[in-house]
Parts: sequence; structure tokens; C-alpha cells
Amino acid sequence: MIEFPAAFLENMRAQLGEEADLFFSALEEPYAAALRLNPFRAGAEEAAAPFCDGAVPWCPDGRYVAPDARPGLSPLHAAGAYYIQEASAMAPAMALNAQPGELALDLCAAPGGKSGQIAAALAGRGALVANEPDAGRARILSATLERLGVGNALVTNAWPHELAARFPEAFDAILVDAPCSGEGMFRREPASRLEWREASPVGCAARQAGILDQAALMLRPGGRLVYSTCTFNRAENEETVAAFLDRHPDFSPQPFALNGIGASRDGCLRVWPHRARGDGQFMALLRRAGEPEPPASCRPARPARDILARLDELQAVAPGWEAHTEAPRLIARGDVLCALPGALPDPGGLRILRCGLHLCRLGRNNIEPDHAQAMALRPDEAAASAEFDEETSLRLLTGETAACDRRGWTLITHRGMPLGWGKASDGSLKNHIPKGLRIHL
Ligand code: SAM
Repeated sequence: MIEFPAAFLENMRAQLGEEADLFFSALEEPYAAALRLNPFRAGAEEAAAPFCDGAVPWCPDGRYVAPDARPGLSPLHAAGAYYIQEASAMAPAMALNAQPGELALDLCAAPGGKSGQIAAALAGRGALVANEPDAGRARILSATLERLGVGNALVTNAWPHELAARFPEAFDAILVDAPCSGEGMFRREPASRLEWREASPVGCAARQAGILDQAALMLRPGGRLVYSTCTFNRAENEETVAAFLDRHPDFSPQPFALNGIGASRDGCLRVWPHRARGDGQFMALLRRAGEPEPPASCRPARPARDILARLDELQAVAPGWEAHTEAPRLIARGDVLCALPGALPDPGGLRILRCGLHLCRLGRNNIEPDHAQAMALRPDEAAASAEFDEETSLRLLTGETAACDRRGWTLITHRGMPLGWGKASDGSLKNHIPKGLRIHL
């Protein structure tokens, strides 16, 4: 057993008093794995049922994972039926409560669990900017949103001040799920106890203050900001929030409550591992003074003439392409045709990894539908689709071909959920699932 750092023990005893022993024992218990069903996938709940063992009380799509179940190994995972996410980590996006049509920002977003959740709450309307400053982690974030079939997200790889310069007072709702000293990981990854230092909370709090100040610049009057961490100390949580409120008198704490966790105090709410079935989580809901603006109604912009000329080709492969991005603005980035959500302000020169829904590559003589397009479509929205059983789906995910009686670009599905594109001819389906996403059995 790896010991807890002495200063951590002392902090927590001071904070929890008589409850501290219950808390320390809970951190030695096995962690409860969970997953969040993806509402963009019809049939996900039924398909995932064999992996699930009860509902996460504070998240309607959250389910605990049954002992010995391995949902990550199923083709349903590759099909975006669910996202494997720790139960308490589902709480901050519930507190943010994004509404369809809003413009939302997830400022510290990789690997993307909460971004996927916010996108689900937006239900394809409005737009999400999902940002991550670490380039490698931003690529994972982008792949997460692709797998979950999100069609209205901009994925950026920027520092908060770079975003704030581009998007002043732009967002209705912002999540700052801040980098922290990670005491909440002490259960799941006991080795993290060795990395923690007594100075970690204060150092992290300084960084969190800087991130929050940039977030404040990007929130519209009347907008909501959720600040969250997965650490237990007060310096990175209540004290960081109190100092932010002192610096920003136009913000105030908002009361809220989550089922199975309880009601906030001064806008702050905690999940404690000895009180709920989940790891540690802190969240605060803050509101900026002013009247919220109703979401702007936007119309699809008329595409440039050269793009317009190619739309019949796209329509012939994916007649339902338009349904997943509200009021899409079609732009070509290099040879990739993207549908950018109409609600989104111009991202200008930011480093962008995903620009709305990537529809297709525009070749000289033909188009090649993009994997992201496949992952956003329902089978009835593709010109051709072919359903495969679990075994064949897994083989397709390794890159193999399969027998198929369709012709041309065909959406590969498992239990009605997309896995990618294949191109069918002469009774065989050539696999176009990107090589980087292939699995090894
Ligand atoms: N919200 C994510 C999720 O649900 O999957 C988890 C986010 S994790 C707690 C914090 C993230 O913040 C990390 O990916 C880290 O790279 C990023 N980060 C580090 N420094 C940052 C900064 N100065 N501004 C914004 N994000 C930062």
C-alpha cells in the first residue's frame, strides 16, 4: 500500500474532522468504473445494458460498469455508444446545464469526457468550442468528439489568453475543468500519491486563477461559468473561487443541487468518495451579472461557388449530411470540406484541429467522405449502409475487408451505430476506417 503524503493527511484531518477516517478508508476501496451513454446513438442504452450495473444518480445518461465487464473492448465503444467516464466527473457538466442553441466553451477539455457531455446537452444546436493547450492531448480530444458523432464543435489547441483575444464576451456557458494537484486520483492511481508535494495546491491555485481570469473575459453578461477540479484541498477549490469573486465583482455564486450529491453552499458543491459512489470532485457555479441574450438565430450561409458545385457529390453519398450542424457554413480547409456551426464566431488564426463537422475530402474528380461524417450519421442518412455482427465489426476495426452486397460508399454499422466508411464492389467491402483508429485483437 502506498502511504498518503503527511501534509495531505493533515490537511484533510483539519478539513473533515471526525469524518476523515471514513474518507481515508474510502480512498483505499476499489474505484467504481462508469460510462456515459451517448444520446446521439439511438439504441445505446439497450446495447450497453450487459455492461451496466445501476444508474449514476446525478447524471441521467451515467451508468456504473458491472464487475468484470469490459465495455472498452466492444465495437460499441468504437461506435460511440458510450464514453467511459468516472461517475463524479459527470457532475460538472450537469452543473453547467448547457442548453440547445447556446454557445459553450470547454476551456481545459482533453481527453474530452465533459466536452462530449456538453455537446450531448446542446443536442446539435448552437456550438461548442472544446480547447486544450497540450497538442497531443488536443488530438485525443478531437478523436473523442469525432467518435461520439459531435457535429457542432470547434476543437482548438490554444492557451486561454489566445482564445480570450479571439472570443471576448462570446459564450453563454463556460466550463473550466482546471488542471489541479489531482488528489482525487489517489484512489484510482495510488502512484499519484508519490508525485504530490506540499506546495502543489498553492502552485496549482496560482495557475487556476490565471485560467479563470481569462475565462471571465470570454463569458457574456448573464452567462454561467462552472469551475471544477478533482482535488480535495480548499486552496484549489473554495479559496480559488472566493479569490476569483473578489477580483470579479460582476460574478456571483449560484445555488444548485445534484441528485445523490446534494445542494451547493455558496455556489460550491463537492462529491466525497465516502459519501457517494464516485471519486473526488469539486465544482462551483458562478454567474456573470447582466441579462443573458437569447441565442442568435442563424441561417445557413450560401457556400462559395466552387463548393456549391460539389454538393451533389456529397449528397449522393450522405443525403443526411446537413442535419448535424445547425445553420452550417461550408468552408474548405485545405482539401477538407467542413460544416462550421453558424453560431460560431470567426476563429481567425487559432490552431484548429476540428472545424465543425468534417464532411469530405474534395478530390479533383471525386469526393471521399470523411470518417467524422460517418460517425455523425444515422444509417438512414447515408445512401448505403451495411450492418455487421460483433465479430465482423471487430475484424473490420482491425482493418480487414468483409463480404457486402452494396455498391460504392457504404456506412459500416454495428447495432445501427456507425463505425466508419467502406467502399463496396463485387461483393466485398474495402475498409476505409482510418488506420490510426484500428484495434489489435
Ligand atoms: N475536462 C477534461 C475531461 O473531462 O476529459 C479533463 C481536463 S484535465 C482535468 C485538465 C486539462 O487542462 C488537461 O488536459 C491539461 O492539459 C489542461 N491544461 C493545462 N494547463 C492549462 C492551461 N493553462 N489552460 C487550459 N488548460 C490547461
